[in-house]
Amino acid sequence: MTTNTVHGRSQNRVLEPATEHPFDHEPPDRHRRQKLLPWLDDAAQERIYGSTVLIARVGGLGGPLTQSLAMAGVGRIIFYHDGNLLDEDLHRMVLMSPDGVGRPRAPQAIESLQRRGRPETRVEGFDARIRPQDAARWMEVADLAIGAAPTYEERLTLGDAARRAGKPFVDAAMYDDETHLLCVHPSEGACLRCLIPESPKWRDDFPVVAAVSATVGNMAAYQCLRILAGAPVPWGRLIHFDLESMDFRKTKLPQNRECPTCIAGTEPI
Ligand SMILES: [Zn+2]
Repeated sequence: MTTNTVHGRSQNRVLEPATEHPFDHEPPDRHRRQKLLPWLDDAAQERIYGSTVLIARVGGLGGPLTQSLAMAGVGRIIFYHDGNLLDEDLHRMVLMSPDGVGRPRAPQAIESLQRRGRPETRVEGFDARIRPQDAARWMEVADLAIGAAPTYEERLTLGDAARRAGKPFVDAAMYDDETHLLCVHPSEGACLRCLIPESPKWRDDFPVVAAVSATVGNMAAYQCLRILAGAPVPWGRLIHFDLESMDFRKTKLPQNRECPTCIAGTEPI
């Protein structure tokens, strides 16, 4: 006989012999509800579990993006994000916490993503900006590259490496109230460099509110999951969403005949 206290009241309970083994039950299925989506059946979920993504930056845009991928069961997340956390990052970087101000962002993001993923999820983060040689090496094992950096340099690096490896690339960006999203096919149609041949200068202290950066981050995460699941996506369409006017535009991006990335194409294996 044992005594338990429930809401401050004492009760006596006799422990009965177990009539069923606890492991006779099916283990809980964390992803049962998302598998009710028509494009996300058991086989598609298994593909997501077995997938590897490479992403540049896990800040205001890439943080919510990778958080959604980890929660949806993506098996391996490799990211690059350099620098120490500033107090003024905390209004938009969902993977960081006030305790981490003054310390590198990458370890904090690893811990947050690991906590949100499955026990089997692998998260590898680097306190550095991604270089072309890093992107080329990782694209040998990654199924998808994701550009979530504010600089075109990092996003073009990933886009080039993905096309070279014959892998898909998702690019997401925001400025002020405006957002852009582009899904680049592994081998066909326009790439990011068709649109932006060279990295333009950018404003370091660009205007950003988390509601906007997280919106486009999650729009990108949704397209990433569809790609990993094998569902159709709007390849080569530049999606522009202005949250202030709530105008949504989808434009077919023309391939630039002089684009060096498209001319080089996929590296022969
Ligand atoms: Zn191109």
